[in-house]
Amino acid sequence: MSLQISNRALALKPSASIAAKKMVADLQAQGQEIFDLTIGEPDISTPAHIVEAAYTAMKAGDTHYTASAGTPTLRTAVAAQISREKALPVKPENIAVGCGAKQLIFEVFSATLNEGDEVIVPAPYWVSYPDLATLHGGKPVAVVCAEEADFKLTPAALEAAITAKTRWLVLNTPNNPSGTVYSRDELLALGEVLQRHPNVWVMTDEIYEYLSYNDERALSLIEVVPSLFERAVIINGMSKAYAMTGWRVGYAAGPKFLIDVVVKMLSQSTTCASSISQAAAVAALEGDQACVREATAMYRRRRDRMVEILSEAPSLSPRAPWGAFYLFISVASLIGKTTPTGKELRTDLDVSLYLLEEAKVAVLDGSAYGLSPYLRLSFAASLEVVESGSRAIVEAINALQ
Ligand code: PLP
Repeated sequence: MSLQISNRALALKPSASIAAKKMVADLQAQGQEIFDLTIGEPDISTPAHIVEAAYTAMKAGDTHYTASAGTPTLRTAVAAQISREKALPVKPENIAVGCGAKQLIFEVFSATLNEGDEVIVPAPYWVSYPDLATLHGGKPVAVVCAEEADFKLTPAALEAAITAKTRWLVLNTPNNPSGTVYSRDELLALGEVLQRHPNVWVMTDEIYEYLSYNDERALSLIEVVPSLFERAVIINGMSKAYAMTGWRVGYAAGPKFLIDVVVKMLSQSTTCASSISQAAAVAALEGDQACVREATAMYRRRRDRMVEILSEAPSLSPRAPWGAFYLFISVASLIGKTTPTGKELRTDLDVSLYLLEEAKVAVLDGSAYGLSPYLRLSFAASLEVVESGSRAIVEAINALQ
């Protein structure tokens, strides 16, 4: 074979969560019963009225390429929602629609990063940010956000991380994997630091915005500090709130000149998101929002059960997250312990492998998210799996010496 693989592709790691999904599927295919707590997507079906809108669109012949920026109807619906809820001056021309939030993050980095540009990524972080930055020549700068600070970026840590080469700060609230949600005051304090550094742009990933257990939705840094909109891009999408991961619709909202470049990139990659999925997304945004409230209430019940059951293990101290559908739990107290077969647990990866072998529970290790020793446990699984999986974890942990 003489085809050479590019250095960029060689340096790129496969997504840890997608790799975990495959591993669980392989074990299940071998006939093993696995409690899967790695899931990064709603386990429920897309609400019926959204599916219905897709049928209607297909039957009406809405089956062609759309504009690369997205259909005017969807751009208008997104712009209306952001200006109504966040009181930001967002027009349809400020919106680019793509195949999921992930594609927009990819295209924004592709449109703005040059070799060596720094991207500040508070850790724990969603697994893809550092890899997407690296893929486009950027240099991810992970800033550790300690559990004692509720896994939040502090103004002092942000200030210390900024250099002349900083291009982006990526802020994800509610956060995957920690579930942390920034308050208005915390966002104001970060905004103050950013006001002093006009060279730094802000990417706010708000994909879990409505999966917030305190309030109806989590606040955005950009609505709290609206002057930042001139140098910000808001990333969001339909995947999590409306259980639409497979439809692949996300969007970016930002200054027109940046959105225009992103649209140019989209036009040379996927051309556009699916016309049918875009019609469904309009129905999601403009339809009854009861489905989002019901889903959030359901995740909250599962979260509470998970915390309740895990609290029964004396060596664990689970904290209920305020948003998203993950529990990020310290396993520091388990490091150095020995399994019933005599193996010493040295890392969070060891702990996750032990849980898979001993308890048949699949979880993700904190190292994939830039902070160890932790585990990420998803409660986007059925209540039954959440309860049985959590009980099996407690039993396996109690068996350690
Ligand atoms: N951002 C975060 C923080 C996520 O957790 C995910 C998916 O897991 C995404 C973005 C990607 O979402 P989408 O399905 O819209 O590409």
